[in-house]
Amino acid sequence: NRQWVLAERPAGRPTVECFDLVEEAVPDPGPREVLVRTRYMSVDPYMRGRMRDADSYAEPWDVGEVMHAGVVGEVVESNSPKWDAGDVVNGNLRWADYAVADEDQLVAVDPERAPISTALGVLGMPGRTAYFGLLDVGEPKPGDTVLVSGAAGAVGSVVGQIAKHAGCRVVGVAGADEKVHWLTGELGFDEAINYDTTENLRAAVAAACPDGVDVYYDNVGGPITDAAFANLAVRARVVVCGQISLYNAEERPTGPRQLGELITKRARVEGVLVRDYVERYEEANERLARWVGDGTVQYRETVTEGLENAPDAFLGLFDGVNVGKQVVKVSEY
Ligand code: NDP
Repeated sequence: NRQWVLAERPAGRPTVECFDLVEEAVPDPGPREVLVRTRYMSVDPYMRGRMRDADSYAEPWDVGEVMHAGVVGEVVESNSPKWDAGDVVNGNLRWADYAVADEDQLVAVDPERAPISTALGVLGMPGRTAYFGLLDVGEPKPGDTVLVSGAAGAVGSVVGQIAKHAGCRVVGVAGADEKVHWLTGELGFDEAINYDTTENLRAAVAAACPDGVDVYYDNVGGPITDAAFANLAVRARVVVCGQISLYNAEERPTGPRQLGELITKRARVEGVLVRDYVERYEEANERLARWVGDGTVQYRETVTEGLENAPDAFLGLFDGVNVGKQVVKVSEY
């Protein structure tokens, strides 16, 4: 059983040296436990926070500890009346080929509904984050302009499509022409901005959002967020979902720098944490599945083959290698 452990804490941008692949025997499940073989494993930006020895919304990993990840896998051995061998399950397990899970730690994945990997993306945690962050915190109304950063990622791509469905004008910000074309050409975004090739972001956002930004869904922070704040509409809502541009910063930057804009615009800024909505996951799961089924929400996945390449897949998130949800395929389903 191959497993990735945290070898050292990164200073700044993580490197492959931060990870160690170790091998041990496949574990035996105890009473009311099952053994799960990993089919797909998720790598997510929040994992950068777990590599740091500091308070965050997710517990830090210890050096030498096997790292955790959202996993879709197949039950191969069960000591639980709840699960049978062959069941496809989703849970917070390990960066590993196999993991033992408590029977209550897993939820069922219906392989008939959609490809099982979607339980890590559009029909999983990122999809639910988009759903609750946009609809509950952003409160979009028909005719609103919604600006989304990290727009071609797992969360952002779903945010933009739900906002279109809600009758909004949608503008995305992403870091590559290929992503911009996907957003406007296939996902129905009204406009998209490549921040990497745009010199004056503030002017570009102003041009794309002539009536101002009613909802800014922030996945990235930094200069893109500065440009968004400079273009808020009166009574705007800013949903702070992620700040990936700052996750590798060695020192916490000072700021926020643009709060004066909130006075002029009487705007509201609010953070969102998906796990606060656990009581309503079923609602989000059902609606997202319906939207995926009828084409309202389209999705892409970037699939890295092999557990041995999981660190590269994770590091790629900080270079924008992924279009849509980044997953690692660990074994054939
Ligand atoms: P993504 O699929 O969006 O992958 C990360 C993307 O971030 C990359 O593809 C890259 O795209 C972009 N990016 C990387 N570095 C920068 C940078 N310096 N400036 C701007 N963009 C950058 O990840 P997720 O959809 O899973 O997560 C999106 C955000 O939402 C993250 O910040 C994450 O932490 C947060 N999140 C929060 C949750 C919550 O409950 N609050 C739950 C889930 C996610 P590009 O090519 O466009 O640069």
